[in-house]
Amino acid sequence: MTISEVELLAKVPTQLFIGGEWVDSTSGRAIDVHDPATGAVIMTIADASISDASRAMDAAADAQASWAATAPRVRGELLRRAFDLLQERADEFALLMTLEMGKPLAEARGEVTYGGEFLRWFSEEAVRISGRYGSNPEGTGRMIVTHKPVGPSYLITPWNFPLAMATRKIAPALAAGCTVIVKPAELTPLTTLYFVKLLEEVGLPKGVVNVLTTSTSKEVSAPIIADPRLRKLSFTGSTAVGVSLLKQAADNVLRTSMELGGNAPFLVFDDADLDKAVEGAMIAKFRNIGQACTAANRFIVHESVADAFASKLTERVKAMKIGRGTEEGVGIGPLINDGAVDKADELVQDAIARGATLVTGGSRVDGDGSFYQPTVLTEVVAGSDILREEIFGPVVTIVPFTDEADAVAKANDTQYGLVSYAFTQDLARGLRLVDSLDTGMLGLNVGVVSNAAAPFGGVKQSGIGREGGSEGIAEYLDTKYVLVPFA
Ligand code: ADP
Repeated sequence: MTISEVELLAKVPTQLFIGGEWVDSTSGRAIDVHDPATGAVIMTIADASISDASRAMDAAADAQASWAATAPRVRGELLRRAFDLLQERADEFALLMTLEMGKPLAEARGEVTYGGEFLRWFSEEAVRISGRYGSNPEGTGRMIVTHKPVGPSYLITPWNFPLAMATRKIAPALAAGCTVIVKPAELTPLTTLYFVKLLEEVGLPKGVVNVLTTSTSKEVSAPIIADPRLRKLSFTGSTAVGVSLLKQAADNVLRTSMELGGNAPFLVFDDADLDKAVEGAMIAKFRNIGQACTAANRFIVHESVADAFASKLTERVKAMKIGRGTEEGVGIGPLINDGAVDKADELVQDAIARGATLVTGGSRVDGDGSFYQPTVLTEVVAGSDILREEIFGPVVTIVPFTDEADAVAKANDTQYGLVSYAFTQDLARGLRLVDSLDTGMLGLNVGVVSNAAAPFGGVKQSGIGREGGSEGIAEYLDTKYVLVPFA
Protein backbone atom coordinates (compact mmCIF):
# COMPACT_ATOMS: atom_id res chain seq x y z
CA MET A 1 0.00 0.00 0.00
CA THR A 2 1.11 3.57 -0.62
CA ILE A 3 1.57 6.09 2.20
CA SER A 4 -1.59 7.94 1.23
CA GLU A 5 -3.57 4.69 1.34
CA VAL A 6 -2.24 3.90 4.82
CA GLU A 7 -3.00 7.46 5.98
CA LEU A 8 -6.54 7.28 4.67
CA LEU A 9 -7.26 3.93 6.32
CA ALA A 10 -5.98 5.32 9.62
CA LYS A 11 -8.86 7.84 9.55
CA VAL A 12 -11.59 5.23 9.11
CA PRO A 13 -13.41 4.21 12.32
CA THR A 14 -13.17 0.57 13.31
CA GLN A 15 -16.01 0.50 15.86
CA LEU A 16 -19.78 0.39 15.77
CA PHE A 17 -21.69 3.68 15.89
CA ILE A 18 -24.59 3.47 18.34
CA GLY A 19 -26.48 6.35 19.99
CA GLY A 20 -23.93 8.87 18.78
CA GLU A 21 -20.90 7.02 20.23
CA TRP A 22 -18.24 4.85 18.60
CA VAL A 23 -18.33 1.68 20.67
CA ASP A 24 -16.66 -1.73 20.73
CA SER A 25 -18.63 -4.79 19.78
CA THR A 26 -19.59 -7.17 22.56
CA SER A 27 -19.03 -10.20 20.30
CA GLY A 28 -15.30 -10.55 20.94
CA ARG A 29 -14.91 -11.14 17.19
CA ALA A 30 -13.57 -8.93 14.41
CA ILE A 31 -14.03 -8.65 10.63
CA ASP A 32 -11.02 -8.58 8.30
CA VAL A 33 -11.56 -6.36 5.26
CA HIS A 34 -9.59 -7.32 2.14
CA ASP A 35 -8.32 -5.53 -0.94
CA PRO A 36 -9.70 -7.77 -3.72
CA ALA A 37 -6.86 -6.73 -6.04
CA THR A 38 -4.23 -8.28 -3.78
CA GLY A 39 -6.14 -10.44 -1.32
CA ALA A 40 -4.37 -8.62 1.54
CA VAL A 41 -6.16 -7.63 4.75
CA ILE A 42 -6.33 -3.83 4.80
CA MET A 43 -8.28 -3.27 8.02
CA THR A 44 -9.89 -5.11 10.90
CA ILE A 45 -13.15 -3.77 12.29
CA ALA A 46 -15.87 -4.50 14.84
CA ASP A 47 -18.13 -7.50 14.33
CA ALA A 48 -21.52 -6.74 15.91
CA SER A 49 -23.41 -9.22 18.08
CA ILE A 50 -27.13 -9.60 18.73
CA SER A 51 -26.80 -7.53 21.89
CA ASP A 52 -25.14 -4.72 19.89
CA ALA A 53 -28.12 -4.90 17.54
CA SER A 54 -30.46 -4.49 20.47
CA ARG A 55 -28.57 -1.39 21.64
CA ALA A 56 -28.76 0.08 18.14
CA MET A 57 -32.50 -0.58 18.04
CA ASP A 58 -32.93 1.17 21.41
CA ALA A 59 -30.91 4.16 20.18
CA ALA A 60 -32.88 4.50 16.93
CA ALA A 61 -36.20 4.17 18.76
CA ASP A 62 -35.22 6.68 21.47
CA ALA A 63 -34.15 9.29 18.91
CA GLN A 64 -37.21 8.88 16.64
CA ALA A 65 -39.65 11.35 18.26
CA SER A 66 -37.24 14.26 18.47
CA TRP A 67 -35.87 13.67 14.95
CA ALA A 68 -39.41 13.57 13.54
CA ALA A 69 -40.10 16.84 15.38
CA THR A 70 -36.94 18.48 14.01
CA ALA A 71 -37.84 21.13 11.45
CA PRO A 72 -37.66 19.84 7.87
CA ARG A 73 -35.38 22.75 7.02
CA VAL A 74 -32.96 21.70 9.74
CA ARG A 75 -33.01 18.09 8.54
CA GLY A 76 -32.46 19.27 4.97
CA GLU A 77 -29.57 21.53 5.91
CA LEU A 78 -27.78 18.74 7.75
CA LEU A 79 -27.99 16.65 4.58
CA ARG A 80 -26.78 19.59 2.54
CA ARG A 81 -23.76 20.01 4.84
CA ALA A 82 -23.06 16.32 4.41
CA PHE A 83 -23.17 16.83 0.63
CA ASP A 84 -20.69 19.73 0.87
CA LEU A 85 -18.29 17.85 3.13
CA LEU A 86 -18.46 14.81 0.85
CA GLN A 87 -17.34 17.00 -2.06
CA GLU A 88 -14.34 18.15 -0.02
CA ARG A 89 -13.44 14.53 0.69
CA ALA A 90 -14.33 13.15 -2.73
CA ASP A 91 -10.82 11.85 -3.42
CA GLU A 92 -10.67 10.08 -0.07
CA PHE A 93 -14.03 8.38 -0.53
CA ALA A 94 -13.11 7.34 -4.06
CA LEU A 95 -9.81 5.80 -2.95
CA LEU A 96 -11.47 4.04 -0.01
CA MET A 97 -14.03 2.41 -2.32
CA THR A 98 -11.32 1.31 -4.72
CA LEU A 99 -9.33 -0.19 -1.86
CA GLU A 100 -12.14 -2.23 -0.34
CA MET A 101 -14.17 -3.03 -3.44
CA GLY A 102 -11.73 -2.91 -6.35
CA LYS A 103 -13.49 -0.64 -8.85
CA PRO A 104 -11.26 1.61 -10.97
CA LEU A 105 -10.58 4.95 -9.30
CA ALA A 106 -12.29 6.97 -12.05
CA GLU A 107 -15.47 4.95 -11.50
CA ALA A 108 -15.16 5.38 -7.74
CA ARG A 109 -15.02 9.14 -8.29
CA GLY A 110 -18.17 8.80 -10.40
CA GLU A 111 -19.83 7.00 -7.52
CA VAL A 112 -18.94 9.83 -5.13
CA THR A 113 -20.73 12.20 -7.51
CA TYR A 114 -23.74 9.89 -7.90
CA GLY A 115 -23.89 8.97 -4.21
CA GLY A 116 -23.51 12.60 -3.18
CA GLU A 117 -26.43 13.66 -5.36
CA PHE A 118 -28.82 11.72 -3.08
CA LEU A 119 -27.73 13.95 -0.19
CA ARG A 120 -28.33 17.09 -2.24
CA TRP A 121 -31.61 15.86 -3.77
CA PHE A 122 -33.14 14.75 -0.47
CA SER A 123 -31.89 17.86 1.33
CA GLU A 124 -34.18 19.64 -1.12
CA GLU A 125 -37.03 17.14 -0.80
CA ALA A 126 -37.08 17.39 3.03
CA VAL A 127 -38.94 20.71 2.83
CA ARG A 128 -41.42 19.54 0.15
CA ILE A 129 -43.29 16.91 2.15
CA SER A 130 -46.83 18.11 1.60
CA GLY A 131 -50.43 17.00 2.00
CA ARG A 132 -53.85 18.14 0.82
CA TYR A 133 -56.98 19.72 2.18
CA GLY A 134 -60.45 19.68 0.66
CA SER A 135 -64.17 19.11 0.99
CA ASN A 136 -65.59 15.60 1.13
CA PRO A 137 -67.90 14.78 -1.82
CA GLU A 138 -70.98 15.04 0.43
CA GLY A 139 -70.07 18.59 1.42
CA THR A 140 -70.38 17.74 5.10
CA GLY A 141 -66.77 17.84 6.13
CA ARG A 142 -63.18 18.69 5.42
CA MET A 143 -60.63 16.03 4.54
CA ILE A 144 -57.01 16.52 5.50
CA VAL A 145 -54.28 14.24 4.16
CA THR A 146 -50.86 14.55 5.71
CA HIS A 147 -47.60 12.58 5.76
CA LYS A 148 -45.63 11.40 8.75
CA PRO A 149 -42.25 9.63 9.01
CA VAL A 150 -42.81 5.90 9.07
CA GLY A 151 -40.41 5.51 11.99
CA PRO A 152 -37.15 3.70 12.78
CA SER A 153 -35.81 2.09 9.62
CA TYR A 154 -33.34 -0.74 9.04
CA LEU A 155 -31.18 -0.27 5.96
CA ILE A 156 -29.21 -3.21 4.56
CA THR A 157 -26.77 -2.39 1.76
CA PRO A 158 -24.68 -4.49 -0.66
CA TRP A 159 -20.95 -4.39 -1.39
CA ASN A 160 -20.97 -3.28 -5.04
CA PHE A 161 -21.71 0.46 -4.56
CA PRO A 162 -20.52 1.07 -1.00
CA LEU A 163 -21.30 4.79 -0.91
CA ALA A 164 -24.26 5.25 -3.25
CA MET A 165 -26.32 2.39 -1.83
CA ALA A 166 -25.87 3.91 1.64
CA THR A 167 -26.73 7.51 0.70
CA ARG A 168 -29.66 6.36 -1.49
CA LYS A 169 -31.29 4.95 1.66
CA ILE A 170 -29.95 7.16 4.47
CA ALA A 171 -30.71 10.49 2.78
CA PRO A 172 -34.45 9.94 2.09
CA ALA A 173 -34.95 8.32 5.50
CA LEU A 174 -33.39 11.27 7.32
CA ALA A 175 -35.16 13.80 5.11
CA ALA A 176 -38.48 12.16 5.95
CA GLY A 177 -37.75 12.25 9.68
CA CYS A 178 -36.87 8.60 10.25
CA THR A 179 -34.00 7.38 12.40
CA VAL A 180 -31.97 4.52 10.96
CA ILE A 181 -29.79 1.52 11.65
CA VAL A 182 -27.46 0.89 8.71
CA LYS A 183 -25.92 -2.51 8.07
CA PRO A 184 -23.35 -2.37 5.28
CA ALA A 185 -22.08 -5.52 3.57
CA GLU A 186 -19.31 -7.23 5.51
CA LEU A 187 -17.12 -7.22 2.37
CA THR A 188 -17.08 -3.42 2.03
CA PRO A 189 -17.99 -1.78 5.35
CA LEU A 190 -15.29 0.90 5.42
CA THR A 191 -16.97 3.47 3.18
CA THR A 192 -20.12 3.42 5.32
CA LEU A 193 -18.08 3.80 8.51
CA TYR A 194 -16.20 6.75 7.05
CA PHE A 195 -19.42 8.28 5.73
CA VAL A 196 -21.12 7.99 9.11
CA LYS A 197 -18.16 9.71 10.69
CA LEU A 198 -18.84 12.54 8.23
CA LEU A 199 -22.50 12.61 9.33
CA GLU A 200 -21.34 12.82 12.94
CA GLU A 201 -19.13 15.78 12.02
CA VAL A 202 -21.96 17.73 10.39
CA GLY A 203 -23.84 17.52 13.69
CA LEU A 204 -26.47 14.85 13.26
CA PRO A 205 -28.16 14.33 16.66
CA LYS A 206 -27.26 11.21 18.63
CA GLY A 207 -29.12 8.04 17.71
CA VAL A 208 -30.44 9.30 14.36
CA VAL A 209 -27.93 7.13 12.46
CA ASN A 210 -26.52 3.92 13.92
CA VAL A 211 -24.19 1.48 12.18
CA LEU A 212 -23.73 -2.22 12.70
CA THR A 213 -20.97 -4.05 10.84
CA THR A 214 -21.26 -7.79 11.25
CA SER A 215 -20.21 -11.10 9.79
CA THR A 216 -23.43 -12.67 11.11
CA SER A 217 -25.99 -10.61 9.18
CA LYS A 218 -28.80 -13.12 9.51
CA GLU A 219 -28.52 -13.55 13.28
CA VAL A 220 -28.00 -9.84 13.98
CA SER A 221 -30.78 -8.71 11.62
CA ALA A 222 -33.54 -11.09 12.70
CA PRO A 223 -34.26 -9.50 16.12
CA ILE A 224 -34.18 -5.99 14.63
CA ILE A 225 -36.68 -6.97 11.93
CA ALA A 226 -38.89 -8.61 14.58
CA ASP A 227 -38.78 -5.61 16.93
CA PRO A 228 -42.19 -3.89 17.08
CA ARG A 229 -40.45 -0.48 17.28
CA LEU A 230 -38.95 -0.97 13.80
CA ARG A 231 -41.34 0.22 11.06
CA LYS A 232 -39.40 -0.06 7.83
CA LEU A 233 -36.95 -2.37 6.12
CA SER A 234 -35.02 -1.25 3.05
CA PHE A 235 -32.77 -3.78 1.38
CA THR A 236 -30.54 -3.90 -1.67
CA GLY A 237 -29.06 -7.27 -2.56
CA SER A 238 -29.87 -10.63 -4.02
CA THR A 239 -33.42 -11.81 -4.69
CA ALA A 240 -32.90 -14.90 -2.51
CA VAL A 241 -32.02 -12.84 0.57
CA GLY A 242 -34.75 -10.31 -0.28
CA VAL A 243 -37.38 -13.04 -0.30
CA SER A 244 -36.21 -14.28 3.11
CA LEU A 245 -36.30 -10.73 4.50
CA LEU A 246 -39.80 -10.11 3.09
CA LYS A 247 -41.01 -13.22 4.93
CA GLN A 248 -39.51 -11.96 8.18
CA ALA A 249 -40.89 -8.46 7.59
CA ALA A 250 -44.38 -9.90 7.11
CA ASP A 251 -44.54 -11.04 10.74
CA ASN A 252 -43.99 -7.45 11.88
CA VAL A 253 -46.04 -5.91 9.00
CA LEU A 254 -43.12 -3.66 8.06
CA ARG A 255 -43.06 -1.24 5.19
CA THR A 256 -40.46 -2.65 2.79
CA SER A 257 -38.36 -1.43 -0.12
CA MET A 258 -36.53 -4.15 -2.01
CA GLU A 259 -33.94 -3.52 -4.72
CA LEU A 260 -33.13 -7.04 -5.84
CA GLY A 261 -31.48 -8.80 -8.76
CA GLY A 262 -31.56 -7.92 -12.42
CA ASN A 263 -31.02 -9.62 -15.77
CA ALA A 264 -30.97 -6.59 -18.04
CA PRO A 265 -31.55 -7.07 -21.76
CA PHE A 266 -29.66 -4.75 -24.11
CA LEU A 267 -31.48 -4.61 -27.45
CA VAL A 268 -29.73 -3.45 -30.61
CA PHE A 269 -32.03 -3.02 -33.63
CA ASP A 270 -30.91 -2.96 -37.25
CA ASP A 271 -31.67 0.77 -37.40
CA ALA A 272 -29.44 1.57 -34.40
CA ASP A 273 -26.38 3.81 -34.56
CA LEU A 274 -23.92 0.96 -33.97
CA ASP A 275 -21.11 3.15 -32.65
CA LYS A 276 -23.43 4.65 -30.07
CA ALA A 277 -24.74 1.18 -29.21
CA VAL A 278 -21.16 -0.05 -28.64
CA GLU A 279 -20.45 3.00 -26.49
CA GLY A 280 -23.60 2.32 -24.45
CA ALA A 281 -22.73 -1.37 -24.23
CA MET A 282 -19.30 -0.66 -22.75
CA ILE A 283 -20.88 1.36 -19.93
CA ALA A 284 -23.89 -0.91 -19.41
CA LYS A 285 -21.67 -3.98 -19.23
CA PHE A 286 -18.30 -2.98 -17.80
CA ARG A 287 -19.19 -0.28 -15.27
CA ASN A 288 -18.21 -1.69 -11.87
CA ILE A 289 -16.56 -4.64 -13.70
CA GLY A 290 -20.03 -5.91 -14.50
CA GLN A 291 -20.96 -6.09 -10.80
CA ALA A 292 -24.17 -4.08 -10.88
CA CYS A 293 -27.80 -5.16 -10.76
CA THR A 294 -28.23 -2.78 -13.70
CA ALA A 295 -25.46 -4.44 -15.73
CA ALA A 296 -26.48 -5.54 -19.23
CA ASN A 297 -26.68 -9.31 -18.88
CA ARG A 298 -27.99 -10.28 -22.33
CA PHE A 299 -27.16 -8.48 -25.56
CA ILE A 300 -30.06 -9.22 -27.89
CA VAL A 301 -29.00 -8.02 -31.34
CA HIS A 302 -30.74 -8.06 -34.72
CA GLU A 303 -29.29 -10.89 -36.82
CA SER A 304 -28.29 -8.50 -39.62
CA VAL A 305 -26.02 -6.42 -37.35
CA ALA A 306 -24.99 -9.05 -34.78
CA ASP A 307 -21.59 -9.75 -36.36
CA ALA A 308 -20.74 -6.08 -36.86
CA PHE A 309 -21.81 -5.23 -33.30
CA ALA A 310 -19.81 -8.16 -31.88
CA SER A 311 -16.65 -7.25 -33.76
CA LYS A 312 -16.78 -3.53 -32.85
CA LEU A 313 -17.45 -4.43 -29.21
CA THR A 314 -14.71 -7.08 -29.14
CA GLU A 315 -12.18 -4.56 -30.41
CA ARG A 316 -13.00 -2.30 -27.44
CA VAL A 317 -13.00 -5.20 -24.98
CA LYS A 318 -9.58 -6.44 -26.09
CA ALA A 319 -8.15 -2.97 -25.45
CA MET A 320 -9.28 -2.92 -21.82
CA LYS A 321 -6.51 -2.82 -19.24
CA ILE A 322 -6.75 -5.24 -16.31
CA GLY A 323 -5.25 -4.25 -12.96
CA ARG A 324 -5.62 -2.77 -9.50
CA GLY A 325 -8.18 0.02 -9.61
CA THR A 326 -5.65 2.58 -8.40
CA GLU A 327 -3.51 2.15 -11.54
CA GLU A 328 -3.92 4.68 -14.32
CA GLY A 329 -6.11 3.60 -17.23
CA VAL A 330 -7.44 0.40 -15.65
CA GLY A 331 -10.93 -0.54 -16.89
CA ILE A 332 -11.11 -4.02 -15.39
CA GLY A 333 -10.40 -4.21 -11.68
CA PRO A 334 -10.77 -7.38 -9.62
CA LEU A 335 -14.07 -9.05 -8.89
CA ILE A 336 -15.09 -8.85 -5.24
CA ASN A 337 -13.61 -12.24 -4.29
CA ASP A 338 -12.59 -15.64 -5.66
CA GLY A 339 -16.14 -16.94 -5.31
CA ALA A 340 -17.30 -14.29 -7.80
CA VAL A 341 -14.55 -15.38 -10.23
CA ASP A 342 -15.60 -19.02 -9.89
CA LYS A 343 -19.25 -18.14 -10.53
CA ALA A 344 -18.49 -16.06 -13.64
CA ASP A 345 -16.28 -18.83 -14.97
CA GLU A 346 -18.88 -21.54 -14.36
CA LEU A 347 -21.45 -19.53 -16.33
CA VAL A 348 -19.01 -18.96 -19.19
CA GLN A 349 -17.98 -22.64 -19.35
CA ASP A 350 -21.64 -23.76 -19.27
CA ALA A 351 -22.46 -21.41 -22.16
CA ILE A 352 -19.50 -22.70 -24.22
CA ALA A 353 -20.40 -26.31 -23.48
CA ARG A 354 -23.91 -25.62 -24.81
CA GLY A 355 -22.59 -24.22 -28.06
CA ALA A 356 -21.72 -20.53 -27.57
CA THR A 357 -18.70 -19.16 -29.45
CA LEU A 358 -15.92 -17.69 -27.28
CA VAL A 359 -14.58 -14.61 -29.08
CA THR A 360 -12.24 -13.28 -26.41
CA GLY A 361 -11.40 -13.83 -22.74
CA GLY A 362 -13.02 -16.78 -21.04
CA SER A 363 -10.73 -17.47 -18.11
CA ARG A 364 -9.50 -16.20 -14.78
CA VAL A 365 -6.27 -14.22 -14.58
CA ASP A 366 -3.41 -16.02 -12.80
CA GLY A 367 -1.66 -14.40 -9.84
CA ASP A 368 -2.81 -12.39 -6.81
CA GLY A 369 -6.28 -10.96 -6.55
CA SER A 370 -9.64 -12.02 -7.97
CA PHE A 371 -9.42 -11.10 -11.64
CA TYR A 372 -11.43 -12.40 -14.59
CA GLN A 373 -10.70 -11.58 -18.22
CA PRO A 374 -13.20 -9.37 -20.04
CA THR A 375 -15.05 -11.88 -22.19
CA VAL A 376 -17.28 -11.91 -25.27
CA LEU A 377 -19.52 -14.86 -26.13
CA THR A 378 -21.63 -14.91 -29.29
CA GLU A 379 -24.42 -17.23 -30.49
CA VAL A 380 -25.32 -18.03 -26.87
CA VAL A 381 -27.87 -20.83 -26.90
CA ALA A 382 -31.30 -20.48 -25.28
CA GLY A 383 -31.42 -22.35 -21.98
CA SER A 384 -27.80 -21.53 -21.03
CA ASP A 385 -27.47 -20.61 -17.34
CA ILE A 386 -25.75 -17.36 -18.28
CA LEU A 387 -28.96 -16.02 -19.87
CA ARG A 388 -30.99 -16.81 -16.75
CA GLU A 389 -28.64 -15.83 -13.93
CA GLU A 390 -26.97 -12.54 -13.03
CA ILE A 391 -23.38 -12.79 -14.29
CA PHE A 392 -21.95 -10.07 -12.02
CA GLY A 393 -18.74 -10.10 -14.01
CA PRO A 394 -17.16 -8.68 -17.21
CA VAL A 395 -18.83 -11.07 -19.63
CA VAL A 396 -20.78 -10.09 -22.77
CA THR A 397 -23.33 -12.60 -24.10
CA ILE A 398 -24.77 -11.98 -27.56
CA VAL A 399 -27.98 -13.57 -28.79
CA PRO A 400 -29.38 -12.78 -32.27
CA PHE A 401 -33.07 -11.94 -32.90
CA THR A 402 -35.19 -11.84 -36.04
CA ASP A 403 -37.87 -9.15 -35.56
CA GLU A 404 -39.19 -6.76 -32.90
CA ALA A 405 -41.66 -9.29 -31.49
CA ASP A 406 -38.85 -11.84 -31.14
CA ALA A 407 -36.61 -9.23 -29.48
CA VAL A 408 -39.29 -8.26 -26.95
CA ALA A 409 -40.16 -11.89 -26.20
CA LYS A 410 -36.49 -12.68 -25.56
CA ALA A 411 -36.01 -9.52 -23.44
CA ASN A 412 -39.04 -10.33 -21.27
CA ASP A 413 -38.13 -14.00 -20.87
CA THR A 414 -36.81 -13.60 -17.33
CA GLN A 415 -38.13 -13.47 -13.78
CA TYR A 416 -36.38 -10.11 -13.38
CA GLY A 417 -37.45 -6.66 -14.55
CA LEU A 418 -35.09 -4.01 -13.26
CA VAL A 419 -33.71 -2.17 -16.26
CA SER A 420 -33.59 -2.63 -20.02
CA TYR A 421 -31.56 -0.87 -22.69
CA ALA A 422 -32.61 -0.43 -26.30
CA PHE A 423 -30.81 1.16 -29.23
CA THR A 424 -32.93 2.21 -32.20
CA GLN A 425 -33.21 5.40 -34.24
CA ASP A 426 -36.88 4.75 -34.93
CA LEU A 427 -38.88 6.90 -32.51
CA ALA A 428 -42.10 4.92 -32.99
CA ARG A 429 -40.28 1.70 -32.20
CA GLY A 430 -38.74 3.30 -29.13
CA LEU A 431 -42.16 4.34 -27.88
CA ARG A 432 -43.56 0.84 -28.54
CA LEU A 433 -40.73 -0.58 -26.41
CA VAL A 434 -41.68 1.74 -23.53
CA ASP A 435 -44.96 -0.19 -23.45
CA SER A 436 -43.84 -3.70 -24.35
CA LEU A 437 -40.77 -4.23 -22.16
CA ASP A 438 -41.48 -5.55 -18.64
CA THR A 439 -39.06 -3.29 -16.84
CA GLY A 440 -38.89 -0.74 -14.05
CA MET A 441 -36.45 1.41 -16.03
CA LEU A 442 -35.45 1.79 -19.66
CA GLY A 443 -32.36 3.37 -21.19
CA LEU A 444 -33.39 4.36 -24.72
CA ASN A 445 -30.16 4.89 -26.69
CA VAL A 446 -28.15 5.19 -23.48
CA GLY A 447 -26.19 2.69 -21.37
CA VAL A 448 -26.73 4.11 -17.86
CA VAL A 449 -29.95 5.49 -16.39
CA SER A 450 -29.19 6.14 -12.70
CA ASN A 451 -29.97 9.62 -11.42
CA ALA A 452 -30.82 10.83 -7.91
CA ALA A 453 -33.86 12.68 -9.31
CA ALA A 454 -35.30 9.52 -10.93
CA PRO A 455 -37.24 6.62 -9.39
CA PHE A 456 -34.84 3.67 -9.43
CA GLY A 457 -36.42 0.24 -9.04
CA GLY A 458 -37.77 -2.85 -10.68
CA VAL A 459 -40.81 -4.97 -11.44
CA LYS A 460 -41.30 -8.74 -11.08
CA GLN A 461 -38.60 -10.34 -8.90
CA SER A 462 -36.37 -7.28 -9.20
CA GLY A 463 -38.11 -5.67 -6.29
CA ILE A 464 -40.67 -3.46 -4.63
CA GLY A 465 -40.51 0.30 -4.23
CA ARG A 466 -38.34 3.03 -5.69
CA GLU A 467 -35.25 4.93 -4.59
CA GLY A 468 -34.51 8.49 -5.69
CA GLY A 469 -36.91 11.04 -7.12
CA SER A 470 -39.99 12.19 -5.23
CA GLU A 471 -40.90 8.49 -4.97
CA GLY A 472 -37.79 7.88 -2.86
CA ILE A 473 -38.93 9.92 0.12
CA ALA A 474 -42.49 8.55 -0.07
CA GLU A 475 -41.02 5.14 0.86
CA TYR A 476 -40.27 6.58 4.32
CA LEU A 477 -43.60 8.36 4.86
CA ASP A 478 -46.93 7.11 6.14
CA THR A 479 -50.17 8.73 5.00
CA LYS A 480 -52.53 10.05 7.66
CA TYR A 481 -56.10 11.10 6.83
CA VAL A 482 -58.21 13.33 9.07
CA LEU A 483 -61.94 14.07 8.73
CA VAL A 484 -63.44 17.19 10.32
CA PRO A 485 -67.26 17.56 10.13
CA PHE A 486 -67.85 21.02 8.69
CA ALA A 487 -70.66 22.12 6.46
P1 ADP B 1 -24.78 -10.08 -2.78
O1 ADP B 1 -25.15 -11.30 -3.55
O2 ADP B 1 -24.75 -8.81 -3.55
O3 ADP B 1 -23.62 -10.27 -1.83
P2 ADP B 1 -26.57 -10.43 -0.60
O4 ADP B 1 -28.03 -10.45 -0.80
O5 ADP B 1 -25.90 -11.70 -0.19
O6 ADP B 1 -26.02 -9.81 -1.91
O7 ADP B 1 -26.14 -9.35 0.46
C1 ADP B 1 -26.64 -8.03 0.47
C2 ADP B 1 -26.66 -7.52 1.89
O8 ADP B 1 -27.52 -8.34 2.67
C3 ADP B 1 -25.32 -7.56 2.62
O9 ADP B 1 -25.25 -6.46 3.51
C4 ADP B 1 -25.40 -8.84 3.40
O10 ADP B 1 -24.58 -8.84 4.56
C5 ADP B 1 -26.85 -8.84 3.80
N1 ADP B 1 -27.44 -10.15 4.11
C6 ADP B 1 -27.19 -11.34 3.52
N2 ADP B 1 -27.96 -12.31 4.06
C7 ADP B 1 -28.73 -11.70 5.02
C8 ADP B 1 -29.75 -12.15 5.92
N3 ADP B 1 -30.14 -13.41 5.95
N4 ADP B 1 -30.31 -11.24 6.74
C9 ADP B 1 -29.94 -9.94 6.71
N5 ADP B 1 -29.00 -9.46 5.87
C10 ADP B 1 -28.39 -10.32 5.04
